Amino acid sequence: MLVGLLTIAAGVGKARAGGDEEWSVVRNDHFEVFSQAGPGLARHTIERLEQLRSFMRTMGFSIEGGERIRVIGFASRQEYEPYRLNPVADAFYLGAAGKDYLVVPDLEPSEFGTVAHEYVHAVLHREGWKLPLWLGEGLAEYYSNTGDVAAGRYQTLQQSDWLDLADLLCWDTTSAGNERDVARMFYAESAALVQMLADSPRYRPQFAELLRRSRGGNPNLESITGLNLREIMADLHSWVGARQTSSPITLPAAPVMRIETSGLSDAEATLLLTELRNAGTESRMAVTQASADKKYMGAVAAFNDGDFEGAFASMRTLDSIREDQKFNYWMIAAFGLFASGDRQKATGAAEHARQYAAKPKEEAEASQLASMLASRADLRISHGTDGRNCISTSRQKEPE
Ligand SMILES: [Zn+2]
Repeated sequence: MLVGLLTIAAGVGKARAGGDEEWSVVRNDHFEVFSQAGPGLARHTIERLEQLRSFMRTMGFSIEGGERIRVIGFASRQEYEPYRLNPVADAFYLGAAGKDYLVVPDLEPSEFGTVAHEYVHAVLHREGWKLPLWLGEGLAEYYSNTGDVAAGRYQTLQQSDWLDLADLLCWDTTSAGNERDVARMFYAESAALVQMLADSPRYRPQFAELLRRSRGGNPNLESITGLNLREIMADLHSWVGARQTSSPITLPAAPVMRIETSGLSDAEATLLLTELRNAGTESRMAVTQASADKKYMGAVAAFNDGDFEGAFASMRTLDSIREDQKFNYWMIAAFGLFASGDRQKATGAAEHARQYAAKPKEEAEASQLASMLASRADLRISHGTDGRNCISTSRQKEPE
């Protein structure tokens, strides 16, 4: 099981001129912080992470057990760049095979909010919560800012057009593509929405229920709140418009713990970065596969609804098709091509489908379709009331 979650840092990162390129590591029982810019920043990071960890415990998260969480802080954005997960990820959390990575361009104290945000992802991941993206990102912002919405997020909300709430709720890791501004708005709006749901008198009573129902996927916000999306969006605009300076929460003091500091040999640094690179590759592949599967399922659903050409058009945009999806792919192609008037190509598609049939029934269906399409018979395509799609000879009229 592997999860990749991405962040747009609220602040603008800065390049560090002439950064020390030696890696060092600072460890305690819960974290190991690798720093390319000296152990001082790593020690500072580990102390603040301990405070946040205590805060998360007071918020009801168990956070015990598991391997130490790895934080990797580069010397600059330039050094971070080769490890970037995607065009809009300015920092990221990666959970792979028992290892949790929080990866940031630098460990400057002013950028700690980014480390904190990624740490919350690690906590939620360890709790086993599989949250919809808006809620995972919104909670990461909420807890890492101890209940507040970061100033940079407010600025975004004031300066740009908001995303439609329905779009926000079904957002996935590919929704923003390369558009950083759109991604930035997604984060800002998710942060404000979660804060409103958690803290406003109207929504707070259902917040625990919302979290409980969200752990396996997208909750139905309308049924939980008893309000429609238009009403919720209007509330969110008012909530953001009436922003009050939040009462600052004082984080608990960091517990006194033994902290070890050591330098990293070249070989150890290389191993660290190779492991990070491999985890990143694995995560990118999982995201690509998840997005392809979603598109494939969408095309099958369109086909089942009788939208032959739409289903095929959607199938054609897939970059790759798994072996077990090829029969459906070619059958949908045959229907789509026939519906668009290209009977010859439809015949070829039905023949391809036959090659990928996994069961005798599938083979019979594809063979029959291929020979009908190749014949001179007049054919008609239909979507039955029972949901069955069929191409049949015109003479076989269905009973009136
Ligand atoms: Zn995030």
